Amino acid sequence: MDPTDLSRRGFVGTALAGIAALTAKSSAQDAAPAKPFRDPFVYRFKIGEVEAFSISDCDLGFREGLDLMWPVEDRPKMKAEMERHGERLDTLPLYVNVLVIRSGKDVALFDAGFGKGNNPKMGWLQDGLAAVGISPDQVTAGFLSHAHSDHLNGFVQEGKPAFPNAKIYLLEAELAFWRGENPDFSKSKRNKEQLPGMIKQVRSHFDTLQANLVPVKDGAEVLGGIVRIEAAPGHTDGHACFRVRSGNDELLHLMDLAHHHLLMFADPNWTIAFDHDPVTAVVTRRKFWKDAGDKRTRCYAFHLPWPGLGHVLPDGDAYRWWAERWAWS
Ligand SMILES: [Zn+2]
Repeated sequence: MDPTDLSRRGFVGTALAGIAALTAKSSAQDAAPAKPFRDPFVYRFKIGEVEAFSISDCDLGFREGLDLMWPVEDRPKMKAEMERHGERLDTLPLYVNVLVIRSGKDVALFDAGFGKGNNPKMGWLQDGLAAVGISPDQVTAGFLSHAHSDHLNGFVQEGKPAFPNAKIYLLEAELAFWRGENPDFSKSKRNKEQLPGMIKQVRSHFDTLQANLVPVKDGAEVLGGIVRIEAAPGHTDGHACFRVRSGNDELLHLMDLAHHHLLMFADPNWTIAFDHDPVTAVVTRRKFWKDAGDKRTRCYAFHLPWPGLGHVLPDGDAYRWWAERWAWS
């Protein structure tokens, strides 16, 4: 057997150990996988007593590359920074990492990815949940950071709630923004042609999820105090971060405070076109980076390289994302 093949297959088996009932024997002896090989997409870890999983929902990237980044006059500096670290420039990778936690009878999702569609490169959350033995009706809570499609759409499947028993917590400000008569995108660098379709879809999804939605205020604590919801405005009006606590352990979910593991840390003033209010997004990012950096808080990020765990470290006047090493136990 090709040693590379063996180690890669062992790697998959380990990542899903005890989950899909793969044994070392079967993973080593099967001559060929029945399905095309796909890299592992479920990573298991702990936050105190809470069991946690990071599930990758897609394999996508933005071909616009640095054209999505602002301010325009800083793009040469961004390019230099990317080249200095050997980062590709032809595309900006889009990771979509969904945090799942299990505590007692509660199973909670932090956003739900794109949802299953016709594109096999996206919407893997449901497969990931199945791999760890969680059925959609076992999900008791969903946390929605904001209503962009990569976060909201996975909560809806074929016009119905994808997780029928889940209460979906979101900040009141996020619901008010999209439900408002005229959602204000005047400060955003986003392509404005897409807005009417986007607003319509968000409202339709909120209608579908109406009975599940639980609007809350900044600082609300749910699941017996395990999860605290913190306002982090700028990316959207009601964008939220989440703090998960168990025992002495804490995990700060950064959500869309960063869309790239280098750019938003090398200079927190650099913003992506999808921010609704870039100026406020920078103020919020600096506040969270300073706090997480000073306290060395363990962090998790929706759009940084999977599995998305790491620390925000102060680095002179700026910061850096220090990804956590993989561990199997
Ligand atoms: Zn996002």
